[in-house]
Amino acid sequence: MRKWFLLSCLLCLLPASAQQNNSLAVTHVTVIDCTGAPPRPNSTVVIASGHITAVGPSDRVSIPAGAHVVDGSGKFLIPGLWDMHGHLTDATEDAFPLLIMNGVTGVRDMGGDLAQIDGWRSEIEKGTRIGPYIIRAGPFVDGPKEGVTNRLTVRTPEEARRAVHDLKVKGVDFIKVHNALPPDAFFALMDEARKEHIPVAVHLPQGVSSAEASDAGVASLEHVETVNESALWRKGATAKTVEQAVDENLGPAGQQLFERFARNGTWFVPTLVAYERGFVLWSNDPASLGPRLDVERKQMELVAMMHKAGVQIMAGSDFSDWGMVPGIDLHNELALLVECGFTPLEALQAATLNPAKFLGKTETFGTIQVGRVADLVLLDMNPLEDISHTRKINAVVLGGKFYPLASIRAQALQNAGKP
Ligand SMILES: [Zn+2]
Repeated sequence: MRKWFLLSCLLCLLPASAQQNNSLAVTHVTVIDCTGAPPRPNSTVVIASGHITAVGPSDRVSIPAGAHVVDGSGKFLIPGLWDMHGHLTDATEDAFPLLIMNGVTGVRDMGGDLAQIDGWRSEIEKGTRIGPYIIRAGPFVDGPKEGVTNRLTVRTPEEARRAVHDLKVKGVDFIKVHNALPPDAFFALMDEARKEHIPVAVHLPQGVSSAEASDAGVASLEHVETVNESALWRKGATAKTVEQAVDENLGPAGQQLFERFARNGTWFVPTLVAYERGFVLWSNDPASLGPRLDVERKQMELVAMMHKAGVQIMAGSDFSDWGMVPGIDLHNELALLVECGFTPLEALQAATLNPAKFLGKTETFGTIQVGRVADLVLLDMNPLEDISHTRKINAVVLGGKFYPLASIRAQALQNAGKP
């Protein structure tokens, strides 16, 4: 961990020598701005004081004297990516260089140690640590559970209302509900959070249906498999197994549910990569691999149905302390979204424009437009041709500072042998 911290410190020093006057220009690059506009070849993007100050054809944009000029010929520029479901406390500070090297410049932290995350957040703001922009929930609001940490344990509606106020005083960006919260406490929490204008992200509590949660005004529902759990425990449920539940959702019941999400403005974060890693590929029962893969395939059809029904979807990997790798698995999630029928641009938007919309920060993040924070990823290959090209990272621009990947790797190598 210490060596990564050293790496982080060195990373701070890297761009300083390269940038005399704090401005940067990426020239002759193909800009994929993620607004939905077609890619614009031979463009120049100018950055000053951490923000985008000009975007346009290379022969028309003037470059400020003394700017650090990066020739983007043959390369592609996309907005920095957001992982909208991660757990930094579990992943530890080792996650930061991985996230940045993989172009993840924003993270929605879905439950962790608030004081620790706020410590990291202020180091990142001050520039003493390299890391993403963080939106955080602080502790999970959950029912009684054994062997878990960073929980605000809530048993009753009264405790749920108090939890909303406690978290508001602590200044959390949103509330994260987990699956053991009793239903009556969940509905009381939703009621109080609405009055207090705090968004709530939900890992569906046992006994609450996805439709009820959507109607109660949750900001986002997490994990595709929860719509099948919902079909097993909703009132009047007929499905008895996960297989039956997923089949039910593939029919009119699912269609109606997803239209409801769209109507209510309920966002969805499927975390397909976490399901694949945790429930499909990781098992000591090889005989059940076929059926598990079948459920996974059908769940991907559910995501395709949601997308067609107009549900707003965001990319999240659920990186924590098991299975998923920070940064790298966001790219796997984007590839899975394309397998669900998203165009590569729609998959990119699930990690750029959509998070900005969800957070109400489209003037700040999510696209390559004048005035936005200069969090950008320079790619060697076109991600619209093949989504796997988001992994062909040449450099990352973070808050206007330019980090070539080759030098990050060289520094990592140099530090690898040091205590
Ligand atoms: Zn999670």
